[in-house]
Amino acid sequence: MSSFLFPPMSPISVPTTEGKLFPIRRVFCIAKNYAGHVREMGGDPATTPPVFYNKPTDAMICPSSLAPQVKYPLRTKNLHFEGEFVLALKSGGENISIEEALSHLYGVAMGCDLTRRDLQQLAKDQRGPWDVGKSFDQSAVMGPVTPMTNLPMDQAFTLSVNNKNVQAGTVSDMIFPPAQIIAELSTYYELKAGDLIYTGTPQGVAEIKRGDRIRIKSEGLASLEFVME
Ligand code: MN
Repeated sequence: MSSFLFPPMSPISVPTTEGKLFPIRRVFCIAKNYAGHVREMGGDPATTPPVFYNKPTDAMICPSSLAPQVKYPLRTKNLHFEGEFVLALKSGGENISIEEALSHLYGVAMGCDLTRRDLQQLAKDQRGPWDVGKSFDQSAVMGPVTPMTNLPMDQAFTLSVNNKNVQAGTVSDMIFPPAQIIAELSTYYELKAGDLIYTGTPQGVAEIKRGDRIRIKSEGLASLEFVME
């Protein structure tokens, strides 16, 4: 009987507002999903469609009031916040239709797609993958999941840094709205229960420094609050 060489990784989960744990399978993200953000990054939304990437499951961190700290990452001199809605799936499949897509939604959380913008820019300049800019330890920050059967088009969020509002977004501004994100992603991957999808960030991204306190709020959803260590 073989035994593990060392203890295997524990299951990774995020709390729900109903007092349960949502076990996380994979972390998908969509980029270039708000025209204003595409433009602020120097792109043209008419010619640059949204793109998908992943973060490792163990990049997820769910800060709490007792432990609000997020580790400042290695190798960057320009860490950015990206406030986002995060879809949490209770089921999945391949080639899901837009009409059926939201039936796979368990709930929604507020998330922050932390980005080493300097390393991402270097990757873009070199026409290489974004992984070191996007997929580092504690880069997928999220709050508790609130059960929801739909993320309405008029749902909005705000992100504040040290109590000053700096970013705001509304679902209706998304190029791919939630149902289309799920449908499109399911043409590349067989989606499963436990998959998370970061839905992209609106304009207003900027640098976070050590000691900054970030708060992301949306009416009816559990908010996300953390401090960069
Ligand atoms: Mn993002």
